[in-house]
Amino acid sequence: MVSVESVISAEKNLKSLSRKILIVLPILFALGLVVFASLRSFNSSPYSYSRIYSMNTIIDIKVWGKERNAAVKEITDEINHLNALFDDFSAQSDVGKINVNAGVKEVQVSSDTISVLKEAQQMYKMTNSNFNVCIAPISNLWGFKGGNYRVPTAVEIQNTLKLTDINDLKIAGNNVYLGKKGEAVDLGGIAKGYALDKIMAIIKQQDVNDALINMGGNILTYSTDSQKIWKVGIKDPRGGGVIGTLSISGNKFIATSGDYERFFIDNGVRYCHIFDPLTGKPANKIVSITVISDKGYVSDVLSTAFFVAGKTQAFEIAAKLGVSIIGFDESIVPFYSDGLTELLQLEKR
Ligand code: ADP
Ligand code: MG
Repeated sequence: MVSVESVISAEKNLKSLSRKILIVLPILFALGLVVFASLRSFNSSPYSYSRIYSMNTIIDIKVWGKERNAAVKEITDEINHLNALFDDFSAQSDVGKINVNAGVKEVQVSSDTISVLKEAQQMYKMTNSNFNVCIAPISNLWGFKGGNYRVPTAVEIQNTLKLTDINDLKIAGNNVYLGKKGEAVDLGGIAKGYALDKIMAIIKQQDVNDALINMGGNILTYSTDSQKIWKVGIKDPRGGGVIGTLSISGNKFIATSGDYERFFIDNGVRYCHIFDPLTGKPANKIVSITVISDKGYVSDVLSTAFFVAGKTQAFEIAAKLGVSIIGFDESIVPFYSDGLTELLQLEKR
């Protein structure tokens, strides 16, 4: 399950590391969920399968039904299209243009970029500010962009937090402007969910019976038969195996955020890639959280936001927004929505 590209980037990261930091390679970039199709009937009918590397992760696409080949092609094209817009490593992408021109001038971007940024603004409000698409300067400070991982000083963090005000992100028509030099947007916590929403729309337009997409731990399940059940495994955040299995039916989006895929350890402390926008430090209230929603961007954003917010706030917001959650605290004790009792099978560790 390791793509060539991710091994290369992992090796690059390794070279730039200082000695005292132990890094766990992001080889399986965010494969927080493991999926196995359950019903035998799924396996007996022919399907089209493709694995691609895009949006910084490994993406598995599986489609059953008459127009399965056309669907896989269209899905792949859509992913590549969005990746070209959202890639923050490229100065030519929409995100690159917005960031390079922060504090300089507004830039014109595609309607997809406008839509995803508006969803991000809306989710900032819905998550008590725990999801902040303008967090990039903070994650860069901790080295999560360039691979130069380090623990910054309190002064550096305070100064950098001044560059994460989402109110400085102005959208007018198809133009976007970031108010201050040094500010930057980072779609890492929403882009995959947004892409899955677009993929769902593609699937619904094709003659397709079932589909399963695993975009680096963000999963889409689709079936025209509401009786069919997908088994989705949740990875043990502190071990190699599966800690629980969800039985999912219908068209759903399932996303996991955790501290076990991209992190470094410095002086025995684990620092992960999801940041508390209030403190500017990696969040550490829980170790993993999975969100099940009818919307891709909602499950993606909320898994990130709930990872920051912790158990109590996660339950409150989940109830308000009508999503189900299953999470694990520091001692790997599970907590989950009442509605999941019948659908969740937990393994003994
Ligand atoms: P992954 O992308 O690894 O599957 P997430 O969906 O939880 O995991 O997204 C984490 C990414 O979101 C980080 O790599 C970073 O780009 C971005 N991010 C980190 N903290 C926040 C935050 N508080 N709000 C919004 N985005 C964040
Ligand atoms: Mg997310």
